[in-house]
Amino acid sequence: MDKSAVIIGGGVGGLFTGAILSKEGVKVTLIEKNSTVGGGLQSFTRFGEVFDTGMHVIGGMQQGGNIRRICEYLGIMDRVKIRDVDSDMIDVLYFAEDKRWFRIAQGRDAFVESLVESFPDSGEELRRYVDAIYNIVDELDMFYLRPSTDYIQAHSDEFIMSADQLIAKYITDAHLRSVLAYMNPLYAGRKSITPAYIHALISVIYINGPSRFAGGSQLFANTLRDLIIENGGEVITGDGVVKVATHERMITGVTTKKGREFSADYYISAIHPCSLLKLLDDESALPKAYRNRLNDIPNSYSAFTLNIKLKPNTFKYINHSCYYMKRYDQIWDFDRDDVPWPLGFLYMTPPDIDQDEYSTKMIVTAPMTWDRVKQWEDTRLGHRTEEYELWKEECTEKLIQCMEEIYPDFRAYVDKINTASPLTIRDYYAVKEGAMCGYSKDCNNMAMSQVPIVTKIKNLLLTGQNCSVHGFCGVPLTAINTSEAILGRNYILNKLNPDTAE
Ligand SMILES: Cc1cc2nc3c(=O)[nH]c(=O)nc-3n(C[C@H](O)[C@H](O)[C@H](O)COP(=O)(O)OP(=O)(O)OC[C@H]3O[C@@H](n4cnc5c(N)ncnc54)[C@H](O)[C@@H]3O)c2cc1C
Repeated sequence: MDKSAVIIGGGVGGLFTGAILSKEGVKVTLIEKNSTVGGGLQSFTRFGEVFDTGMHVIGGMQQGGNIRRICEYLGIMDRVKIRDVDSDMIDVLYFAEDKRWFRIAQGRDAFVESLVESFPDSGEELRRYVDAIYNIVDELDMFYLRPSTDYIQAHSDEFIMSADQLIAKYITDAHLRSVLAYMNPLYAGRKSITPAYIHALISVIYINGPSRFAGGSQLFANTLRDLIIENGGEVITGDGVVKVATHERMITGVTTKKGREFSADYYISAIHPCSLLKLLDDESALPKAYRNRLNDIPNSYSAFTLNIKLKPNTFKYINHSCYYMKRYDQIWDFDRDDVPWPLGFLYMTPPDIDQDEYSTKMIVTAPMTWDRVKQWEDTRLGHRTEEYELWKEECTEKLIQCMEEIYPDFRAYVDKINTASPLTIRDYYAVKEGAMCGYSKDCNNMAMSQVPIVTKIKNLLLTGQNCSVHGFCGVPLTAINTSEAILGRNYILNKLNPDTAE
């Protein structure tokens, strides 16, 4: 194919889109501002340990899973290092309010049975609820990588109701409702706002079987980078795009911080849309109403993370994720600033490639709103204030105290701690307000919170978490959509479904 594309941003969306397009013969130039590619897949080494920044739990990689099928099509599965979590316990959940633990198992039936252990009278309701979330996900052709013929898909009422409303429709027990919402920090869930289909999608992905990257997610990012280069593309790192030149609703080229210029037939923005707007040499290249809309869509909340190096042979490796929640009635309150922080968090021991009995590190990630760091928004990485550093120490202490409720000797296991706040996330990924999942999806205004991949600039396409679903199980699907805008409708999906291809 005699076409070329410049991709701005080497995160999950940019890398997947670049890998797909380069495999199909498009000449790809991918430009990443950071010194390594990856975005949410980026890892960093601190205290001699590798820590992942934004990809701790992944879905779709089990046999037949959608993301695994994309990796198989790309021909990279033999290079991918992942470890599946325990099927009888994909997650455990602790509520501090009554010190109760809940076990969550993998698979439709096992999931229901694991919860019936704690809620013996709710078996039938749970079965109907699980059927409902699988039915909602079945409305999404893209989730199953099915070629689609409908340009406008009609969806059921349940698809577009709010996630908490959906749960309440099927489940009567108030505590069980909260337990079923435990994963909402993974999709930055908001009460009465997050659409049920997002909740259904993430829940189904994890019920089907979550995995983790072994040895760090950077290995996966590097695999995609290498594939682009092997396919004849170019990957530039440590030199972000600072200007996008436009002329009569067409992009004519991009300039990097180091002054290099690149041009192509297509330009793909794999960065936050608000960051893209700031790069345009002439903002009127995009209609004012569209620009206002991009700037006005609320962003999802962010997170505060502890990257902990553990003392040797003190803390056993746990092959599943663990969730700490304060109270049942605050399970949907992670976007609130008027409640004491933290309301809850995820903690996990990421696997090494040759993981042994003990873990060398732990990640604790607690949802946090942008407003909690807004007072320091004018500071940049490496140049924060003393006050901010003190505040981070206080946040760290609060999280450690919660961990001590579960493991009374926890402090004794900790060797060193590195922290990341919403400001860190904003500055590393250049994502507005450090948003964990990009734009906040709103069931009350679905059209407003989803950004189409095509734009009024004829040769500009968008990709990444702001266009549709975030995360490892969403962004690669949008990468297919974006690639097909160049290659042709269902071009990749037909390749993924050779038996049904027209
Ligand atoms: C703390 C945290 C934990 C998370 N945990 C998980 C998880 O466990 N599982 C999961 O599935 N998802 C998780 N996510 C969400 C996931 O990381 C994102 O949904 C995903 O990374 C979004 O992909 P993207 O390509 O849209 O953006 P990104 O991956 O953020 O990529 C954008 C890239 O563009 C680059 N860039 C920005 N501006 C420029 C420029 N001007 N020029 C060149 N390059 C530029 C950035 O440096 C970055 O590399 C988490 C997110 C956070 C913040």
